[in-house]
Amino acid sequence: MLYTHHNYKVNEHGHLMIGEVDATLLAKKYETPLYIYDIERVRQNCRDFMDPFKEQQVKGRVAYASKAFSSIGILQVIQQEGLSVDVVSKGELYTAIKAGFDPERIHLHGNNKSESELEMAIKTGVGCIVIDNFYEIELLDKLLSQFKKKVNALIRVTPGIESDTHHYIMTGNEDSKFGFNLQNGQAKAAFLKLQHHPYINLKGVHCHIGSQIFETEGFILATNRLFNELSKWHKMYQYEPEVINLGGGFGIQYTKEDQPLHRSQYVNALIKAVEDQANKIQIPMPEIWIEPGRSIVGDAGITLYTIGSIKNIPHIRKYISVDGGMTDNLRPALYGAKYEAILANKANSPASQKISVAGKCCESGDMLIWDLSLPHVESGDLLAVFSTGAYGYSMASHYNRFSKPAVVFVENGRHRLVIKRETYQDVVRNDLPYIG
Ligand SMILES: *Cc1c(COP(=O)(O)O)cnc(C)c1O
Repeated sequence: MLYTHHNYKVNEHGHLMIGEVDATLLAKKYETPLYIYDIERVRQNCRDFMDPFKEQQVKGRVAYASKAFSSIGILQVIQQEGLSVDVVSKGELYTAIKAGFDPERIHLHGNNKSESELEMAIKTGVGCIVIDNFYEIELLDKLLSQFKKKVNALIRVTPGIESDTHHYIMTGNEDSKFGFNLQNGQAKAAFLKLQHHPYINLKGVHCHIGSQIFETEGFILATNRLFNELSKWHKMYQYEPEVINLGGGFGIQYTKEDQPLHRSQYVNALIKAVEDQANKIQIPMPEIWIEPGRSIVGDAGITLYTIGSIKNIPHIRKYISVDGGMTDNLRPALYGAKYEAILANKANSPASQKISVAGKCCESGDMLIWDLSLPHVESGDLLAVFSTGAYGYSMASHYNRFSKPAVVFVENGRHRLVIKRETYQDVVRNDLPYIG
């Protein structure tokens, strides 16, 4: 068998293989559109982040940012691999609990945590709340004194670094809705409120500089900025952080143009940066926490579609339409994100033409891929789009009242349904009549 496309194999019938399973069989059994996860890859991605910490005997946590793809099945795998998990809502928290996560390994994020979200987190006993703003400190003050409970917390700061990525998903710059600014003194003001707080155990600081980042410089710069501030807190108030959390955003390959570093290279660079800085300001080496989301599940996911109508506009463009679109993958419409795809049932056929792939929503912007190289296409062929594992299902919508597709996990030749396909009855489940 050949490893051709995105390191997936093709079998003797020219069919794409995922986790030792023929993709065309999955399409037949579970129908399309279908999200498929190669769980061996998810596990390998987890290990690639965990191993450098073990090898270098540096204390750390790898917390999966579950907004990338949250479901009971995936969180069970993540938990089995020894990771922690980040949640940003009651729904994500509930999913993590249902998946069996030790609450101590659940971290709560969010720039507008509601009182009831914080209450649920406190009652659940989450291991860490990443505090984003002054309003949240007030809410926590009130709730914790009411419940007589303590929580561990980090302060989220914006280090003022612009990562080299699409600005819609850039969060580390100063003009950001997230976190306390370092430059204008807000981070220090938050620190002073929390350093000797009766109910909040301030474990350290957090920053997240962006997403889909392909180099280590941004992370190193952010680390240096954090330590610049920490050295002041150390000198003035003898503060020694237990934890430095450097967020996520490690890039993955969507198309050939994307050349990410190996996951361990990001971790090694972060470990070195934190060691250097801790030595420099003479504090004990803190734990390093990271929060990969996309880079855990992104390249382990493939979406399978059935091709329906084919429209040729001579001398202009050829369109093929698939049975999904922006409702199962919003990223092309939202960010102009690019993907690669092949015909899963003709995976060895050489490309002979350029075709643009349209979704089936009533929206001209619902295009999945422009100018994709494909072999001869017929209605009924299966299109496999690579690297759809992150921010696909989790951003899926019911636009046009489409039902959300199913999700299947494959591993070692076995396949298992982990999210059922919605029915049209599911789509109207919460509707109530107005008349009659
Ligand atoms: C989204 C997010 C992440 C994960 O980002 P990826 O690009 O998916 O790795 C990590 N931390 C925080 C705070 C985030 O908001």
